[in-house]
Amino acid sequence: AKEINQILDELPIVTAIQIKHWQWIANYYMCAIGDVYRAALPSGLLLESETIISQKQNATVDTQTLSDEEYLIHEALQLQSTLKIQDIVGILNKKNVFPIIQQLIDKGVISLQEEVLDGYKPKLVRYIRLHEQYTTDGGLNTLLEVLKNAAKQKELVLNYFQLNASEQKPITVKKLVDAAKTTSAAVKALIEKGIFEDYLIQEDRVDFSNNQSNKEILLSSSQQAALEQITERFLEKEVCLLHGVTASGKTEVYIKLIEEYLETGKKVLYLLPEIALTTQLVSRLSAYFGNKVAVFHSKYNNNERIEVWRQVLQNSDKAQIVIGARSALFLPFKELGLIIVDEEHEQTYKQMDPAPRYHARDTAIVLANFHEAKVLLGSATPSIETYYNATNDKFGLVELSHRYGKVTMPVIELVDLKDKYFRKRMTGHFSDTLIQNITEVKALGEQVILFQNRRGYSPLLECLTCGHVPQCQQCDVSLTYHKHKNQLRCHYCGYSIAKPTHCHACSSVDLTTKGFGTEQIQQELELLFPDSKIGRMDQDTTRGKFGFEKIIDSFKNREIDILVGTQMLAKGLDFDNVTLVGIMNADNMLYHPDFRAFERSFQMMTQVAGRSGRASKQGKVLIQTYNPDHNTIQQVTNNNYIAMYKEQLYDRQIYKYPPYFRIIKLTLKQRDYEKLKQGSLWLYQVMAQNLAIPVLGPEEPSINRIRNEYIRTIIIKVPTATSVAGIKKTIQKMLNSFDAVAQYRAIKVSVNVDFY
Ligand code: ADP
Ligand code: ZN
Ligand code: ZN
Repeated sequence: AKEINQILDELPIVTAIQIKHWQWIANYYMCAIGDVYRAALPSGLLLESETIISQKQNATVDTQTLSDEEYLIHEALQLQSTLKIQDIVGILNKKNVFPIIQQLIDKGVISLQEEVLDGYKPKLVRYIRLHEQYTTDGGLNTLLEVLKNAAKQKELVLNYFQLNASEQKPITVKKLVDAAKTTSAAVKALIEKGIFEDYLIQEDRVDFSNNQSNKEILLSSSQQAALEQITERFLEKEVCLLHGVTASGKTEVYIKLIEEYLETGKKVLYLLPEIALTTQLVSRLSAYFGNKVAVFHSKYNNNERIEVWRQVLQNSDKAQIVIGARSALFLPFKELGLIIVDEEHEQTYKQMDPAPRYHARDTAIVLANFHEAKVLLGSATPSIETYYNATNDKFGLVELSHRYGKVTMPVIELVDLKDKYFRKRMTGHFSDTLIQNITEVKALGEQVILFQNRRGYSPLLECLTCGHVPQCQQCDVSLTYHKHKNQLRCHYCGYSIAKPTHCHACSSVDLTTKGFGTEQIQQELELLFPDSKIGRMDQDTTRGKFGFEKIIDSFKNREIDILVGTQMLAKGLDFDNVTLVGIMNADNMLYHPDFRAFERSFQMMTQVAGRSGRASKQGKVLIQTYNPDHNTIQQVTNNNYIAMYKEQLYDRQIYKYPPYFRIIKLTLKQRDYEKLKQGSLWLYQVMAQNLAIPVLGPEEPSINRIRNEYIRTIIIKVPTATSVAGIKKTIQKMLNSFDAVAQYRAIKVSVNVDFY
């Protein structure tokens, strides 16, 4: 037996259900359990260790034998008893300090030890109170007597008494300093005199207790009916879909449902597809539930995430409702009663890279099963898979087919860009119909949203003389022009160069931009509407913790008149003064090479359209397109989800896609093109021979090189009716035998189950 060094945690930091759930993820999504653990645990929960260098005890050091660098370290250890590797890097001003450290160990000067650090730092707040002897009745008089010659300190004490009377809760040092307009040094002097004493309290970093507004929510009769139907469906089904048109008030139905679960002591997880959406939802939910709401997503820092983790683990009253992005699924829930998956159709629910490549909706359903909890999926445009399950008796289905209040669905009009009449009347990318509508809406003081599903200024810079288009050095893609920074940038790997002044192929200076992104729309708007305030919301403008919040707030507060953005603003946002939505170009979405392209285009356009006219006035939507007769565009215009669903379902059956087949995609990557070509063919052939189901490939994707690695894909289609577990075993066996071939070992293979 050995001595115990350190107790890591007094209680387990993960639950038995989590471990089962994570194992399921690793099995189902065919990845290593370690990948799941890495995704699941906030890094601060894992203890980190650091190497500490100290002077060897009882060492007699002959400084004559030390080199200059060794001597510097020896000196530093005289001043400070321990050093970290990083300190030594600083002292010697070089990167590789290990040889010198090794020499000092050999000479018996220093020794190393490992120190275990807890990754979590609690937030400690310094409070202040009067020393006990002055809290008696005569206390104030005694105190004033003591301080009779110290006017400033007396002032401070009086401020304290005032605060104490008005606040009726403990006073922080900061509050006192601010109130008395003094410095913390002055307060410190009074502490040293024994008049005040300070003490530390550990506090939560995030607190919504001030948000609560106690405003009641009265459901409309159709919302009330929907709520009752959901509860009814849950008697028989584990999962229910709430299919409610945009602005039907699904959020209000969720709130009432959540309340019912909390009343029985259960906890609720509320998943959102995108962090951008949490801002609005957190304020809506915390207005109702106050501090019972907690938030968990990747823009929160480690300490904040660990606090939520602990609150959930301790089943605390604070985190009864957790709002989060997909990673919130990994929290240590106890007594979880309900999971809401809002905007369930969103593809961001599927993690693409790195593993685990899990789908948060499907993973949520499995988690709920472990907890014997229920799942409510919500969307105005459900995914084909979910609607299929809901209409084939697997899930319950509840519909909300009207908007809340008296508002009707927006009017959708098409602007036919094929039509010469319309096309001649374009200013940049704006049809005169769109310009005219913006002008009218602006005159009424209402706001506009313009949607362009591409960031940057324009996708291409093209040479007019030879047609050359600058490409990324590391990827098989054209660079995107970002005017603001005057750069060409790769959206796959981040590679960037300054915008060239001449063509690198023929030296011509006749360069032109092709296609357009949000940045260009913003610029055109600034010229067209010089007196309007224009905002932009895309990946480039929303970096940083409060990136989204700032833009959403200023749009809500009407400091922005026209907001241009990418698909970020197509989701769930609720602005009450937007009456016009413009879709700049519907076509590039439609022609994406992907079996979900039409479904997604429908969802995207219907969702953006849904931002128009949500409060009291009917909204309008203008869609600019070269394909006004396209079925999908017609389905959007007629708000006909069912027509879209039926058409897509028919195609999915013919072409063997979900919900009839599960797609498992293998992606192979290697810098050596020939090696990859041979390896992927080898793997394809074994798969095709051993699996009695469709195997396609090895295909060269349309972008066949990223970060200098060539790419090939193999698609396996598993009929939904067959057991996927057995097939996965066979696939894994073949992947192992692929790995065993020496010449292919350097080919990386990743597996994506239920590819999106
Ligand atoms: P959805 O999520 O279905 O798109 P929301 O929940 O955002 O719709 O509701 C649209 C708007 O209508 C919101 O501003 C919301 O506050 C308002 N609303 C919906 N239901 C109610 C209700 N029962 N009482 C008051 N306002 C409501
Ligand atoms: Zn050229
Ligand atoms: Zn690149």
